[in-house]
Amino acid sequence: MPTHTVACPDCDLLLAFSASLARHTLRCPRCGGTVHRRVDTSVDTALAFSITGLLLYLPAMLFPLMTLETLGMSDSGSVLDTLVGFYDNRYYFVAFIVLVSAVAFPLILLSLVFTVTMFARSGRYPAFLTRLLRLYVFLEEWAMIEIFLLGIMITTMKMRHTAEIHFDPGFYCFLALVLTTMAIATVLDRERLWALLSRPGTALSVPSPAADAESPGRTALQTGLVLCHVCRQLEKRSPVAGPIHCRRCGATIHDRKPDSIAHTWALVLTSTLLLIPANVLPIMQVEFLGVPENSTILDGIMYFFKDGSYLIGLIILTASVFVPVFKIIGLIILLLTAQTSNTGFLRSKTMLYRFITFIGRWSMLDIFVIALLVVLVDFGFLTSIHAAPAATYFCIVVTSTMLAAKTFDARLLWDNRQPAANEAIPPIPTAKEAS
Ligand SMILES: [Zn+2]
Ligand SMILES: [Zn+2]
Repeated sequence: MPTHTVACPDCDLLLAFSASLARHTLRCPRCGGTVHRRVDTSVDTALAFSITGLLLYLPAMLFPLMTLETLGMSDSGSVLDTLVGFYDNRYYFVAFIVLVSAVAFPLILLSLVFTVTMFARSGRYPAFLTRLLRLYVFLEEWAMIEIFLLGIMITTMKMRHTAEIHFDPGFYCFLALVLTTMAIATVLDRERLWALLSRPGTALSVPSPAADAESPGRTALQTGLVLCHVCRQLEKRSPVAGPIHCRRCGATIHDRKPDSIAHTWALVLTSTLLLIPANVLPIMQVEFLGVPENSTILDGIMYFFKDGSYLIGLIILTASVFVPVFKIIGLIILLLTAQTSNTGFLRSKTMLYRFITFIGRWSMLDIFVIALLVVLVDFGFLTSIHAAPAATYFCIVVTSTMLAAKTFDARLLWDNRQPAANEAIPPIPTAKEAS
């Protein structure tokens, strides 16, 4: 059975991978990172979903999501209106983040999947496709329509006592768009596409690590290799320890993310400092009969608890308070581990890193809820809602903690760990074990 070598993206361990394992999802035996993800669907399925998504996109963005009625007055709004709301309130940064995460990136991602899968289906692979697929990998986590959908649900829960709520056609299109986008993320076989887009002769032939019994558990770095974090191809390290370009996808790759620790600390400290104004200052202002009343993040959460909606209160408390604080503390633990050469609990710490990367985006929830309230609750003198300064601070906290997780290089945690000569490295899983 032909084997080739792959490296774990989280701890850099080299592993043997044979074609017979392709039908299984493979995890790294050392840190648990996903080395290979099993996808059973064809490129056609992803193409079909991307066409569906593109057809749904305009109605989902432009049609009104819902209508609120109170005392004979009614107000409705679309997804696009929500960023206009922030823009009119002069919250330009928040408007920009809502624009990219809920409006622009979802469209770009759908178009990228459509183009790449369309070409792949026709059997033609022009060189620019690698750039498009690279862009998809880069933008994927910054598109957040599923979080926006949760925001819509929470907004309806919040307004259900004050107004009568009707869902409009835009909501159903948006719901379908979210489901389609989630389906694409599941069925898109990235490894297969990268393999299809590979130019002949660009893959490096690396002897299987299992054959090298003298050095069990060696990392790519120790073997003079470096993993491309975009397309997962192994390349030879630069002889002068500088960056190189991946021959398959063209990404710039470094042995380790450059200045990872300094950049992550800077972003973590920024988030920690801004977490104070984000929680102390009001995040929105509710005007009732001309009397403005300020509301902080915690006031918003207390509202749901007093109302008896404990689940919703708990969801917002988790997304807005627990997640940012947890991320900051978690990243500090990871930074200190990488800096002090501490080698305890490395597997758990790598799991912590993956969890931080996964949950980060969900903190945007409160921003989307406010975006919707600003647009939907505008009944003139009776009552209206405006964004307040903490919205900007909170938005910066969310983006900087997300960037901090991105700039941190989990492989640094493992670099300090020199395996002892007699240490047994877990064997490379076979197809049977992996299933
Ligand atoms: Zn690993
Ligand atoms: Zn690459």
